[in-house]
Order: sequence, then C-alpha cells, then structure tokens
Amino acid sequence: MGRKANILLIYTGGTIGMVKDYKTGALRAFDFDELIANIPELHQLDCNLEGITFSRPIDSSNMNPKHWATIATLIEDNYHAFDGFVVLHGSDTMSYSGSALSFMLENLSKPVILTGSQLPIGDLRTDAKENLITSIQIASLRDNGEAMVQEVCLYFEYKLYRANRTTKINAEHFQAFASMNHPPLAESGVHLKLNHTYLYKEDNGSRPFRAHKKMDANVGVLKLFPGMGQKFLKAALGADGLKALVLETYGSGNAPIDDWFLDELKRAIEKGLHVINVTQCSGGSVVMGKYESSRRLMQLQLVNGKDITTEAAVTKAMWLLANGFSNDSFKTKFETVLRGEMNQN
Ligand code: ASP
Repeated sequence: MGRKANILLIYTGGTIGMVKDYKTGALRAFDFDELIANIPELHQLDCNLEGITFSRPIDSSNMNPKHWATIATLIEDNYHAFDGFVVLHGSDTMSYSGSALSFMLENLSKPVILTGSQLPIGDLRTDAKENLITSIQIASLRDNGEAMVQEVCLYFEYKLYRANRTTKINAEHFQAFASMNHPPLAESGVHLKLNHTYLYKEDNGSRPFRAHKKMDANVGVLKLFPGMGQKFLKAALGADGLKALVLETYGSGNAPIDDWFLDELKRAIEKGLHVINVTQCSGGSVVMGKYESSRRLMQLQLVNGKDITTEAAVTKAMWLLANGFSNDSFKTKFETVLRGEMNQN
C-alpha cells in the first residue's frame, strides 16, 4: 500500500467557516480548529491533513489580487511537502479566484481544489461537509504515485469542475456553479467517477512548478445593452489607467454597427487599449465574423475571447498584463489556450 496523501487545507473565509451565534443570530467566522472540530468525519479520511488560515478570514466579496498572491505563495511554500491543496473560499467570487490561480500556478502537477458552501458548517442542513470531505478525497487521489487531478478545480454539490470554466449562477440552490462550456471533471454519487478525458494536464515536459504572484488590475468589464449611450461608452473606454477591457457582447460576439460606437472603439484600440470580445451568454462561443455585426469588430482587431467566461477573461488579462504580454503580444497570447480556459477554435 502506498503512503497516505498529505493534504493542505487553506482557509480563506466565506460561509463555510461561519457559525451562527445563537444569541445574536449573526454569522461569525470560525477559527480553523473550530472548523475541524465541527467535522469529526475528517479524522476518518485516509490522508494526513494540515491547515493554514488567513489571519483574518474574509467574506469573498473582499477578495483581491493580493489575496490571490497570498494563496499562491502558501501553495508555493508548501508545494513539495503536500500532495494536494484544498482552498476553503466564499462562493461569491470563487470562480474569479479559481481562474486567477489557474494562471498564476504554472506547471501544476498536483490538485488545487477550491470549495465552500451555501450554508455554514454548523448548520443542520449544511452542504459544507460533503463539499469539504469530497474535495479532500479528490485531492488525495493518486495513481502510481502521480496525482490524478493536476489542475485548479472547483468542487461544489457533487461536481468537480475546471475552476476557470465556472461561473456562480445561483445564490439559493446548493448547486451554485455551472460550467457551461466544459463538462464536469468528476461526479460524486454512490461512486466517485473521474471523467479522465476532460482532465487537464499541462503539456510541459517536466518543467518545474512556478507561482506567479503579479497581476495587473487595470482591467475593466463592460456589458453591452441596447440603448447604451456614447458618453457612457467613451467614459468607460477612457477610464484612467485602463489597459484591457472585457467587452460582454451579444450572442456569438455581436455588437451594434453604429458609426459612433465603432469609432469610439477604434480610437481606444489605437491608443493601446486591448478590447476582448466575450459573449454575455452563459454558454456558447464568440464566432467573430459570423455576422456583419461581429465582422466589424474583427476588423477593429478586437481580441477573440472564444468561449471563455468573464471571470477567466478578467483574470487572464490581469495575468498577461503583469507577465510581459502587455503590448502587441497580448492579442496572440490571449487567443492561445494557457490552462484549458477555452477551446482553441
Ligand atoms: N458571501 C459569502 C462569500 O462569498 C458567500 C459564501 O461563502 O457562499 O464569502
């Protein structure tokens, strides 16, 4: 029998680690030991568990690139001592953090699984236990000494997803996430089934793991809507310091063909702004040139976001801008698949 897997739990905050104060009715953050004490089942798992916690656990609405760098550093510092990492995180921005970490952690050969819950761990009907226990089990899976999952994932309500393909879609249901353009990597029922064909392995020879900590947050998101005015568009495109804009277009990447609209975009792009065409539909892909309305965007040299999520587009842009691809190389590099975040075509 092989040795037990060593798993590191990184606790950043979120509902999962909260407990209801029965006197006041308010939710307050657990410390890590209290969290573990609430899941005695963890002792039955066939792995060695250790935990590290943020000094002040946060609601994930407060997440920012500095916190991502902290998580990346914790993984880097402990990379060789552990076989897998489970990051406890609030669900609100989990897809952003998962996407960011997928770019920041290069040449991963171990699992990094983000999970959380809709109800606190101390709640009778909590979804936290299953989410946490199964995440740890998946992070422990090895075959011939090699991790079976070697990418940044998100586990929630019986499904393991590639994190950079997910979006939070529901604030009420336990099934809070969807991955519309990539099938689940694993499903947990009576058996835990991995979908081997969909797992991602970096084609990296045996280049060593590397954690990039820098992100450039001079990125914006603009969702088109019928009736958007020129002043508003101009103000958004001209925002001080803006370097990349994720433009959420209609359907398969379509936008108005009014001259003023295209002229504003053209001016901004000529001044060096990278504008990324991402669909505001939750599933499907941008196909530049399918309609006249997207052919015009193609002529303006918009970056083709294909079937990427907004979460992955924002964090990929932040990563590229901070890691030497801020100029002409940005478009080519963005349109290249880096971590399985989109389909190549
Ligand atoms: N507001 C919480 C958070 O994202 C919600 C949750 O954890 O599900 O931190």
